[in-house]
Amino acid sequence: MKGKLESSERQKLIEEGKNLKEVLATLEENLVQLTDKLQQEAQCVPNMAHPDVPIGGEDCSALRKMVGSPREFSFPVKDHVQLGKELDLFDFDSAAEVSGSKFYYLRNEAVMLEMGLTNWAISKVMRKGFTPLITPEIVRSTIVEKCGFQPRGTNTQVYSIEGSDQCLIGTAEIPVGGMHMDSILSDSVLPLKYVAYSHCFRTEAGAAGTATRGLYRVHQFSKVEMFILCRPEDSDAYHEELIRIEEDLFSSLGLHFKTLDMASGDLGAPAYRKYDIEAWMPGLGRYGEISSASNCTDYQSRRLGIRYRPSSSEASPNSKKGKANSGPTQFVHTLNATACAVPRMIVCLLENFQQEDGSVIIPEPLRPFMGGIERISPK
Ligand code: AMP
Repeated sequence: MKGKLESSERQKLIEEGKNLKEVLATLEENLVQLTDKLQQEAQCVPNMAHPDVPIGGEDCSALRKMVGSPREFSFPVKDHVQLGKELDLFDFDSAAEVSGSKFYYLRNEAVMLEMGLTNWAISKVMRKGFTPLITPEIVRSTIVEKCGFQPRGTNTQVYSIEGSDQCLIGTAEIPVGGMHMDSILSDSVLPLKYVAYSHCFRTEAGAAGTATRGLYRVHQFSKVEMFILCRPEDSDAYHEELIRIEEDLFSSLGLHFKTLDMASGDLGAPAYRKYDIEAWMPGLGRYGEISSASNCTDYQSRRLGIRYRPSSSEASPNSKKGKANSGPTQFVHTLNATACAVPRMIVCLLENFQQEDGSVIIPEPLRPFMGGIERISPK
């Protein structure tokens, strides 16, 4: 009869349908695994490097600028740990018992130094048109990954929260970038410029043997971070703006420092170009990194899904006169730069501005942000 199948034929088709369902389920599972693997492999691919980036390891970085010269001392120089002890500014022993090594309590004027430095940096950067932010300090691991950090693995710098898919942030760059995830920004809002304050948490895995005394390398610290989202063609210019702001901030405090164009081996995964600033730390007897400014081009925006729709002011033949002509979307470029990493600034200030009588003079620009404290003297 028309439209009806022999029962044997029907049975065969039912079996085939069942088999297809099983094959499809297996293929779909394979697809999920392969996509995951592809994502993991893609995660290992770093950004391209700017053609002018010096090729090589840390020692190949190029000097861009030198500001000031090391202060000459007429008395034996103390390091920040010694100064902090004599001025009653830190308590590393209690922190070691309460939290573990590489933690600290700040005491007395050191508290005002942290607050003052933070407030000073935010105020200075805000006046340059950056929107101030205080960010969440716990974020989803996927955001950490999309910003180019490894939330898992044996050598991770990231603290993960057990039993959750969340991590503690290592820098405010992560929650600020994440804030615009999966969005299409209008051309007219670009550039977006933020200055964000947060605590930063780092495992410092693999940091054994490097300078670890006192405040230099710790697990938790406060940082004021600048972050820009802009059109691709503008990112080199904003990178220059960020390094200029950093240099202005540090020279206004009277620090002696050098700016380096970091070599390819030192760029990390997300950066296309990175400028580090290293300041002279007399107690340490060497230069120490105090800030880092990176142009990440579209490395983070591709992973985070942050696009914008360019608008052309030229009217196309079909558009009405004067009406913006919108084209296809493009990924924005992202940049980040340190305005003030508090503990390293405290190291710099104490060691550079120590006096023979054991006191430390506070640089003038900071005083209004520290309740007028001009000098930290032994109690
Ligand atoms: P990064 O986000 O790694 O480029 O670091 C920004 C700045 O934070 C560095 O230039 C340092 O001044 C400071 N910094 C990084 N790691 C630590 C740490 N473990 N302890 C104290 N300061 C740090």
